[in-house]
Amino acid sequence: MKNLYLIGNWKQHGSQAAIEAFADQWSSEQHPRLRIAIAPPFPYLQALGEALANCDLAAQDCSVHVQGAHTGEVSADMLVDLGCQYVLVGHSERRQYHGETDELIAQKVAAAQAAGVTPVLCVGEQQAAREAEKQDDVVRAQLRSALATSQPNLLIAYEPVWAIGTGLTATPDQANQMHAMIRQEVESLLGAAQATPILYGGSVNAENADALFACPHVDGALVGGASLEAASFMAIAQSASNNLSH
Ligand code: PEP
Repeated sequence: MKNLYLIGNWKQHGSQAAIEAFADQWSSEQHPRLRIAIAPPFPYLQALGEALANCDLAAQDCSVHVQGAHTGEVSADMLVDLGCQYVLVGHSERRQYHGETDELIAQKVAAAQAAGVTPVLCVGEQQAAREAEKQDDVVRAQLRSALATSQPNLLIAYEPVWAIGTGLTATPDQANQMHAMIRQEVESLLGAAQATPILYGGSVNAENADALFACPHVDGALVGGASLEAASFMAIAQSASNNLSH
């Protein structure tokens, strides 16, 4: 029986007041096989952890370094101190706007695993690659590089870049086919196809979540915009719970 994972990525959004408003509407009643986490900006990890019951904490990034003269960096050990269970690694916005390379991302995966926080490795193709039908090649190359020194303890989020924050979503068939390919690749790289949850991300909302969760290879969702309000995030959680109850 599979579990489903739902991770909210708040990006650079949030405030103390927003956390309080979110907590007021939060329902801690979750399906026992649904794992929910939220990734707020670093300064709000602790407050969010204290405010929400039955919700794991995720960070949006971590340093490859354990400690040292790296101004502005946050290590994976520090995330563990704050109670984080997960850390996003290689989000397309980090790749695109912060120049993160596949090599750096591989080091971040390893740093997170060494510290005991589970990396959520984000992969996905740009629109031009999808139009040229090169999406499998792009994602395969990202996986091979990022998982070169990885242990089998991670989650993967397939996030087609053209679907992030655009309102465009991969069709359930497109998501399922890509997830099946990712699963095969994870098996050949780590021997851990079944143990590795593969989440879909890209404009997931309460309207499209049901069809995505119904896909056999989709083990959950990484949600940006729709995770900012408790009501819309909980509606997606409800759809995941319904799927698990069928
Ligand atoms: C994301 O930031 O990972 C994401 C999927 O964003 P959105 O749901 O807003 O497309």
